[in-house]
Amino acid sequence: MNSPISVLRPQRPSWTLTVVGARDVTPRMREVSLIGDLAAFAYKPGQDLLLSLPTAAGTARRHYTIRRFDPAEQRLDIQFVLHGASPAADWARDAKHGDALVAEGPRGRTCVSGAADWRLFTGDETALPGIAAMIEGLPAGERAFAVIEVGSTADEQPIETAASLELRWLHRQGPARAPSQALIDALAAFELPPGVGQACVIGETATVRAQRQGLIARGMAKAQIAAEGYWRPGRIGGHDHIIEPDFFGLGRGRERAGARG
Ligand SMILES: Cc1cc2nc3c(=O)[nH]c(=O)nc-3n(C[C@H](O)[C@H](O)[C@H](O)COP(=O)(O)OP(=O)(O)OC[C@H]3O[C@@H](n4cnc5c(N)ncnc54)[C@H](O)[C@@H]3O)c2cc1C
Repeated sequence: MNSPISVLRPQRPSWTLTVVGARDVTPRMREVSLIGDLAAFAYKPGQDLLLSLPTAAGTARRHYTIRRFDPAEQRLDIQFVLHGASPAADWARDAKHGDALVAEGPRGRTCVSGAADWRLFTGDETALPGIAAMIEGLPAGERAFAVIEVGSTADEQPIETAASLELRWLHRQGPARAPSQALIDALAAFELPPGVGQACVIGETATVRAQRQGLIARGMAKAQIAAEGYWRPGRIGGHDHIIEPDFFGLGRGRERAGARG
C-alpha cells in the first residue's frame, strides 16, 4: 500500500510593516515604501511577500514582489499595478504614512538560479518589479534578455544592471488581456542563444503556460524554466505555480493552480 506523503512547509517569518512613503513611479504603478524591524530580513531578488492588507471588508491576502530592500534603512519598496478597483490596488492607491500591514515571507523560487550562459526574463507589468530586481542583481559578465509587456511607453521603467542586457518593451495600448498574444509571439520570435539558458517566465497564467510550452517545444530543458502565474481573470489573490523537478532539486515536478499560500 502506498503511504501518503505530506509536505510540511516551514513557517514563514512574519513582519509588521509601516508605510513611510507612496508615489506613482509610472501612471499605473504605485510604489509603497515600508519599514519595520527588518534586521534579520534576507531575500533573493525575485522573491515575494504575502501581504495581509487591511480593507473595509476585512483582510486581503495578496502576493507582491520585493522590488528593493535597503538594509541600512530597513526599508522595503513594493510596486503595485493599479489595474482597476480591487482590494490590493485600492489599498496601494490610498496608502499613506503610518498605515500598517503584516507581510509573510520572503517566499518563491522564481529567482536567478545556477550557472547559465544566458538568462531570459519575460512577463507583464505584474512581473516587472521581479524582473527588474533579478536583472539588477546580476553581476557583470552575465548575459540577459528581457521581454516585458506594459500598457504604453509611459509604463516603462529604467532597469540598471552590471550585466549585458537586451531589453524589449511591448506596448499593449490598452488593458491587460489574457492570454497576451503579443508576449507569446515575441517569445516565439526570440532566437535562443547558444549555450545553456535559464528562463524566468512570469505574469498572467495562460500567457506563462503558452510561453513555457513554446520554449520546451523549441528544445529548452524544462528544468531550465521557472514559471509562475501571477494573476488570471477571475482569480482572487493566490498564484499558479508550475515547478519543474531539476530546476529546484525538488524531486518530482508538480503543477498547482490557484494555490493560496
Ligand atoms: C509571486 C507573485 C508576485 C507578484 N508580484 C506582484 C508585484 O510585484 N506587483 C503587482 O502589481 N502584482 C504582483 N502580483 C500579482 C498580484 O498579486 C495580483 O494581480 C493580485 O490579484 C492583485 O490583487 P487585487 O486585490 O488587486 O485583485 P484581486 O482581488 O486578486 O482580483 C480582482 C480581479 O482583478 C483581476 N486582476 C488581478 N490582477 C490583475 C492585473 N494585474 N491586471 C488585470 N486584472 C487583474 C483578477 O483576475 C480579478 O478578476 C504577484 C503575484 C504573485 C503570485
